Amino acid sequence: MKFKIVSKGDHRSNKIKSTIKEYLTGFDLIYDKKEPDLVISVGGDGTFLEAFHRYVHRLDTTAFIGVHTGHLGFYADWLPHEVEKLIIEIAKTPFQIVEYPLLEVIIRPDSGGKADRFLALNEAMIKTAEGSVVFDVEINGEHFETFRGDGLCVSTPSGSTGYNKALSGAILHPSIDAVQLTEMASINNRVFRTIGSPLILPKHHTCVLRPMVDRSFLIGIDHFTETYTNVKSIQCRVAKERIRFARFRPFPFWNRVRDSFVAEDDI
Ligand code: NAD
Repeated sequence: MKFKIVSKGDHRSNKIKSTIKEYLTGFDLIYDKKEPDLVISVGGDGTFLEAFHRYVHRLDTTAFIGVHTGHLGFYADWLPHEVEKLIIEIAKTPFQIVEYPLLEVIIRPDSGGKADRFLALNEAMIKTAEGSVVFDVEINGEHFETFRGDGLCVSTPSGSTGYNKALSGAILHPSIDAVQLTEMASINNRVFRTIGSPLILPKHHTCVLRPMVDRSFLIGIDHFTETYTNVKSIQCRVAKERIRFARFRPFPFWNRVRDSFVAEDDI
């Protein structure tokens, strides 16, 4: 089996990376940056997101696992003191795979030029630095509402505990193939009206945001943000691709949610 390790780059993460690399190559596993079967991220959720985007073109063949050296590790759920156990589990391959849904985002320019397509593990968030955004929101080709406010966030089930949660979105179990649309400070009065509640769109349902006012937009896909001008539409739906996690022990999603947000011990 071929593996690659993506480290956060700090001293502790680099040290853990060296240990894992040394032991796994000792077990005859091959370190391969280009075509790894397994990507091990060592750092925090940010490092995991970076590892995912680096190998997003290989989702059918590459599986991911995270070791966390920071505080909260939602994706990175192996602790530094468990690394030896993890190495032995990896060396004993094959491992079990758990798949989670992803979000597909297509940004089309006004000019009719080439569209940009992204996959997000957590979410896409659309804001502007120039006041408020005004979008016609279409669901499955039908006008749903005109949104005015700070912005919109569209998240995956596993991303529902990230930015979406801070916007009072629901936490969705990743066995549900859906994406969630949440509002950021919508303007609601006698003139402007939005639904005001998070919307959960199942697989095959498409949401399209059409800017009504010419603005430059800040479009964030997970941990990176880009500025777009002349945007015709932003299309979001459940992607056909999925992320594959390598699982070596059960760690139910609800336990992960509890341990990250509710439980007070062991932090
Ligand atoms: P970052 O790396 O500083 O991450 C911010 C925090 O979000 C970290 O504590 C991280 O562990 C946590 N996080 C990331 N993904 C998560 C998930 N799926 N479930 C629970 N917690 C999660 O910030 P960044 O690199 O700019 O952005 C990475 C992600 O951080 C974004 O995709 C977004 O989901 C999240 N984020 C959340 C908020 C917020 O809650 N207000 C703000 C910014 C970013």
